[in-house]
Amino acid sequence: MDLAGVENEIDRVVVSEVELQTKIKELAARVAKDYEGKDLLLIGVLKGAVMAMADLSRALQRHVDMDWMAVSSYGSATKSSGVVRILKDLDRDITGRNVLIIEDIVDSGLTLSWLKANLESRGASSVEILAIVRKSDAAKVKVDVKYIGFEIPPDFVVGYGLDFNEKYRNLPFIAVLAKHMYS
Ligand code: IMP
Ligand code: MG
Repeated sequence: MDLAGVENEIDRVVVSEVELQTKIKELAARVAKDYEGKDLLLIGVLKGAVMAMADLSRALQRHVDMDWMAVSSYGSATKSSGVVRILKDLDRDITGRNVLIIEDIVDSGLTLSWLKANLESRGASSVEILAIVRKSDAAKVKVDVKYIGFEIPPDFVVGYGLDFNEKYRNLPFIAVLAKHMYS
């Protein structure tokens, strides 16, 4: 769906489709270089990372494995609490693997810091993080994100995998949701 479909529901676009696609190619080039000659397992965090995983993996000129996890962090619709529960676990063992977690957004950082520690504890050789956007000033815990697409203001955003009540994931850009949509 494009802008015309949500004009009255969003406040402004913060990352355009062109900016996203350009950045994905840049990130893919960095990943390819950093993991040259090494095995690479991309782990996407459902459901937000679906778009990033689809675009990034296709931009990588090399073989990769892909697996998925679904986690839920307890909290309200727009704030996370840091209490994480696994809804869907990995299909395969990750002992000795080079893992790159693919995430849509780093907000408080609580979900990712928990996930990184969890995957490290399973004996992966390395665990790094790629996130499409990070909300500046929002981090409650320091989490080391190796690959970051864009720093954005701490407003609630939707699109490119990011949802509000499961909607808006299919927008090809990232936009601030209009306040009247959730308050
Ligand atoms: P955390 O606060 O870094 O733990 O983020 C947890 C999860 O909350 C993310 O993976 C997203 O699914 C969701 N989230 C955080 N900020 C936003 C937002 O602005 N829009 C949509 N989802 C968000
Ligand atoms: Mg979500």
